[in-house]
Amino acid sequence: MINNSRSNEKLPLMEAFYTIQGEGFYTGHAAYFIRLAGCDVGCHWCDVKESWNENLHPTIAIDEIVAQAEKHGKLVVITGGEPLMWNLDALTSQLKQKGIQTNMETSGAYELSGFWDWICLSPKKTKLPTQSVYDAANELKCIIYNKHDFTFAEEQAARVNKAAKLYLQVEWSKKDEMLPVLIEYVKNNPKWAISTQTHKYLDIP
Ligand code: SF4
Repeated sequence: MINNSRSNEKLPLMEAFYTIQGEGFYTGHAAYFIRLAGCDVGCHWCDVKESWNENLHPTIAIDEIVAQAEKHGKLVVITGGEPLMWNLDALTSQLKQKGIQTNMETSGAYELSGFWDWICLSPKKTKLPTQSVYDAANELKCIIYNKHDFTFAEEQAARVNKAAKLYLQVEWSKKDEMLPVLIEYVKNNPKWAISTQTHKYLDIP
């Protein structure tokens, strides 16, 4: 069920936890992750497939989600699933009222909602981003699973706003094969930087 047209009082929540952001521009920063349930993008290599069916997860009052976030620092990362399946105006405005920074990780497959300090757009071939997310993204993070993904990444870089920082990140299960290729690619195309899943190397959730 897509509910992107109005503010919600409750949202389907798969999990929330305080950890270190392992990827992209905010790598190394302590952050409280709010993983919303629901995703119909269908990446075959997805490592959170248990998030896809929102009906398998409880719906939690936004007040309660924000109250828990308040106990865990000043930076929240809202992720999924695909968080933009839900209207995020109410959640993000309440977080901001508490002085909490709002970051999001999204495939961009739905129209933008919410009030954001930082948007990481990680586009997927199966359901391309909306223009609203290309325009607002602060960071473009493209996942490299095979060599064709470099072509896709360049197409996405041409569509995102010019201020967005550009990252390439190897898909974890392909790192032995593709990381050397990625390193050479970035050396030859230095507008990109490498994002590594440092939390996996550090063995933190
Ligand atoms: S968009 Fe994210 S949660 Fe959805 S299938 Fe792809 S990797 Fe998984």
